[in-house]
Amino acid sequence: MCVVSTLNQQLAIGVLKERSARERRVALVPADIRKLIATAAFIVERGAGQEAGFDDNAYASAGARVATSREILENCGVILKVRAPGVDEVPRSGRILVSLGGYDLDLGERLRQRSVIHLALERIPRTTRAQAMDVLSSQASIAGYASVLEGARALSVLLPMLITAAGTIKPAKMIALGAGVAGLQAIASARRLGAVVHGFDVRAAAREQVESLGARFVSVEGDIGAGEGAGGYAREQSRDQQAQLRRALAPHLAAMQLVIATAQIPGRPAPLLIDRETLGTMQPGAVIVDLAAETGGNCEVTRPNQTVVVDGVRVMGPTDLPSLMATDASRMFSGNMRALLTYLLREPGHLNLDASDPISGALLAGQHWAPATGAAA
Ligand code: NAD
Repeated sequence: MCVVSTLNQQLAIGVLKERSARERRVALVPADIRKLIATAAFIVERGAGQEAGFDDNAYASAGARVATSREILENCGVILKVRAPGVDEVPRSGRILVSLGGYDLDLGERLRQRSVIHLALERIPRTTRAQAMDVLSSQASIAGYASVLEGARALSVLLPMLITAAGTIKPAKMIALGAGVAGLQAIASARRLGAVVHGFDVRAAAREQVESLGARFVSVEGDIGAGEGAGGYAREQSRDQQAQLRRALAPHLAAMQLVIATAQIPGRPAPLLIDRETLGTMQPGAVIVDLAAETGGNCEVTRPNQTVVVDGVRVMGPTDLPSLMATDASRMFSGNMRALLTYLLREPGHLNLDASDPISGALLAGQHWAPATGAAA
């Protein structure tokens, strides 16, 4: 058993400002610092919450000290961030970094060289016990909602049916490809806006979830390697199975005005569900919002953070959807951080990382180096 613990009443937890373009979220909000202040000291980088609507005074009122990133990197045993840190923000040797970036091999190598323990948030188990810490779920939920709003804005037709003296407008048809957290939230959001909503997923369990939201589940024929793999995630398909699935989905896509594409396999390139040929069969003016843009996209022409128009179909590849709703996205991210820190800080100043524990063990398991037993900060 490997235990890494910090026995230090002065344990300092730092919150760094996000530096990526388009990233407006902050990892911890003042309200959560107020709830955690008895367990550790908090140091927040100047302006860290500004873009999300939380100013430095709010952090100071909650009991945090506002400081520079350099002071944080020098003095904090635990450092919180939303996105992976840049090269000039890597914590010192033996420190603990809590952030996304678990699939970033370059980051993994940098952290390994510095002997930094990375608690990568992608590795939080998708279990009931860890649900409150599940950043992927909270942020995917916001992305699903925001994707419908972005898609609706790009359409030149209305989502709801309108019966007016000027005539009747038919409701638009929408489909969510991938009915995980983001897809189900997109389905619920599009239903609230009045679209005729459909859903598709390769996992059999998704049918009931799609239908329970009042949407129609699209069934496809043939060997598409359907099924659930480890941890409730979908199993990766072979190239042939993906090609079969694209052909089977194409006639359904031809009838849709709005497609929200969310299909992902953790740590792998996104499955390709829509090729150029299918785009040619879709209605001009149709919109695809591809949430898988960062991992290659569900559509052949998707480019991250760009809109590509092919045969009159607009294909959007936003990678910053949760950041568009930065205040609530930060509140939810921060709520996840608070749950994680509360779990790990079982007594004030004592951060307990236990390899035999189902949650901290899963976080430690992905280290690119073996953390030594003993003090970590
Ligand atoms: P994800 O972001 O990894 O993928 C999104 C969806 O894409 C998934 O539903 C997946 O089945 C689907 N997909 C993959 N390949 C596909 C393909 N070729 N065609 C169509 N769809 C494809 O998934 P997620 O939203 O993070 O959720 C993954 C699983 O974890 C789901 O079963 C979800 O219900 C479960 N989950 C459980 C908990 C919990 O119990 N605490 C929390 C969150 C999610």
